[in-house]
Amino acid sequence: MARRTKIIATIGPASDDEATLRGLIRAGMDVARLGLAHNTIDEAAARMADIRRIAALEGRYVGILVDLPGPKVRAASFGEEPVVLVEDSRVELRVGDHRSDATSIEVDYEGLLSDMEPGDRLSLGDGRVILEVREVAEESLLARVAHGGVLTGSPGLHIPSDRLSMRAPTDDDLRAVERFVELDVDMIAVSFVRSAEDLARLPVMPHPEGPIVVAKIETRAAIDDLPAIIEASGAVMVARGDLGSECSIEELPILQKEIIRQCIALGRPAITATQMLETMVNNPEPTRAEVSDVANAVWDGSSAVMLSGETAIGVNPVNVVSTMSRIAERADDAFDHRGWMSELSELRMTDTGDPDTAITDAMTQATARAVDELGISTILCISGSGFTVRSMARFRPSARIIGLSSNERTVRQLTLSWGTEALHLPEQGDLQRRVAAALEVARDRGAVQAGELVGLLAGTDVRSRSTNVLRVERVPEA
Ligand code: PEP
Repeated sequence: MARRTKIIATIGPASDDEATLRGLIRAGMDVARLGLAHNTIDEAAARMADIRRIAALEGRYVGILVDLPGPKVRAASFGEEPVVLVEDSRVELRVGDHRSDATSIEVDYEGLLSDMEPGDRLSLGDGRVILEVREVAEESLLARVAHGGVLTGSPGLHIPSDRLSMRAPTDDDLRAVERFVELDVDMIAVSFVRSAEDLARLPVMPHPEGPIVVAKIETRAAIDDLPAIIEASGAVMVARGDLGSECSIEELPILQKEIIRQCIALGRPAITATQMLETMVNNPEPTRAEVSDVANAVWDGSSAVMLSGETAIGVNPVNVVSTMSRIAERADDAFDHRGWMSELSELRMTDTGDPDTAITDAMTQATARAVDELGISTILCISGSGFTVRSMARFRPSARIIGLSSNERTVRQLTLSWGTEALHLPEQGDLQRRVAAALEVARDRGAVQAGELVGLLAGTDVRSRSTNVLRVERVPEA
């Protein structure tokens, strides 16, 4: 069986040339993540156009996820050569963006001095180095290196979110959203979300008119408001880099499982992110622990696993994606589909206040049961917004899911949905015509074989979100 869990790869200087982008798509990148922390809006927009063009040449759909930096604080560059920060040594932090070294760090955040207090802990480079603030002086913060380590480039500086006076989304984020919405972006990730209200401030129409909004869970406050944030978002990212600095590190695996569980219950794709194959930034093979991390993220129920520095600045981004693809595929093979399905029947939370959701929820559950009982190996989901497909994918059926939509952006958004192969279905006529067209498109693309029995989910009304028809159909001859 082909890989079911999706792969998101961050595009950066190591991967933004045409040949590497093509290599990433061939190796299995389903979604390209464009971070705005290191790029201007114009650069990211140009990259988005490149990726769409190359994906079309490759005959593939690749989703684009624009990641808003939010109040992300960075240290000025330590340079290309590794710089060692020695445990117990003293460092001075000041506002600036020129240069950092082992004793003096410049930080691109004006509120640095006013937000911090003695005793606060700061983490550099997703926990590579930990500093403890000793004194807040006139022009600088004096800190002790609590845990030493090696830094290069411009690492992120994690300031505890309850100290940060800067809120997400920032004004720069809002400007970026406006531009990318004009460009019909597929997904937008929001960093340092603290409450559902933060998401409500985005200048986007609710999905499906607007893009899928991905809430990055990386603050304590977000954990406390998790159900409301998941409800208000289209997908969720377990952003383990910053989350690991916000909470005790031993809490992280538990939080990862809990966030994913709540996403599954509400039918939102969950992305597990950061340091998944970190050592492959430099090495040709991952550590054994990293391989297990990816596999466990699959078994936890992640819809997608994400690569950050590994593909943005690593030595061999294409090798990283193909390695992740092999690990995820093997973990998918060993997935306990039946066990998952029976557990989900307990877990899922039907929104009884919304009849469309409740009907789709019940129909997808019935489909999961029916295809399992009938030994059907493919489910075709005809969907306007992708809602039915995401609802179906929650059940993690062993049958393949083919998501068909007349909306090209929905098709690109389905690149994030677990186990889904997405196809464009131009036909928008009545149910009978859409069913016939779906069977033909899937057959002509080689996704199903003539004579094969398939499950088919659709709605009688093309404008409604409600999926109220399950049919078992034989694929016609050409
Ligand atoms: C994270 O903190 O894990 C994350 C994904 O966010 P970023 O890469 O933007 O720091």
